[in-house]
Amino acid sequence: MEIIKGIPEMQQRAHATRREGISIGLVPTMGFLHEGHLSLIRAARQDCDQVVVSIFVNPLQFGPHDDFAKYPRNLDRDAQMVESAGGDILFVPEASQMYSEDHQSWVAVKGLDENLCGLFRPGHFQGVTTVVCKLFNLVKPDIAYFGQKDYQQLIIIKKMVHDLNMDIHIKGLPIVREKDGLAMSSRNIYLGKEERKAALCLYRSICRAQQMRREGVVRASVIIAEIQKIMHNEPMIRPEYVQICDPENLEALEIIEDKALLAMAVYLGETRLIDNCILSS
Ligand code: AMP
Repeated sequence: MEIIKGIPEMQQRAHATRREGISIGLVPTMGFLHEGHLSLIRAARQDCDQVVVSIFVNPLQFGPHDDFAKYPRNLDRDAQMVESAGGDILFVPEASQMYSEDHQSWVAVKGLDENLCGLFRPGHFQGVTTVVCKLFNLVKPDIAYFGQKDYQQLIIIKKMVHDLNMDIHIKGLPIVREKDGLAMSSRNIYLGKEERKAALCLYRSICRAQQMRREGVVRASVIIAEIQKIMHNEPMIRPEYVQICDPENLEALEIIEDKALLAMAVYLGETRLIDNCILSS
């Protein structure tokens, strides 16, 4: 596996690769990898001739009070993991190269970013779409891989690709969980022992919601109230939002007719965790 740090090097390599007719799969990440990331890399390995994994902690998608400075980083460990999962190129650009001082251009998907996490993290998704667009231009993938763990991000990126006629296929892959159900996240490392236990209340909420849906509950407010009760019983949890919405346009649903997205964000101390699932009967 090769590590590329320079932007011109990455761009030249991608250009040459595409000219040879070799297919490129891209897995964009912020590093501190876990099995969730590796599932994306393995899927890319199966589909594509060349697998590029990017690691870039993107300052544009962090708010002033977010954890940009302390976001966990371990390049040596990540490089080993990427190699063992079948990555060919690890692209690790510098922030100063990605955004020059006179950087003025943004990519924004308006509308889909006005609900769920977008409500609480102003500018976050614009930071995401801007960096993903740049990574697409640099790596020139045929297919790019994203996790359903960041469901809103996945929907927004699909919309960006569609609206801007980007010639890239977006694949969304299922959430990878720990044995006890906690969704894997680089931020789980922040959790103390008691917080880690309390975090399971997210998965408990998902299981309960799925059960209610299977039992025929269709009123979103009834399921949300039940989840709020579960969270209320866990004093360490500070819920940010619990919402049930349409899985395509992310608009809040009152009555669940077919499929619905249950999405949640909570704080445990300073750590913000998200989780979601598609509810179906
Ligand atoms: P991140 O490094 O957190 O920006 O995540 C990079 C990619 O990995 C995103 O597409 C995430 O949705 C995906 N990802 C993160 N955690 C998981 C998980 N537990 N299961 C599946 N995909 C994940």
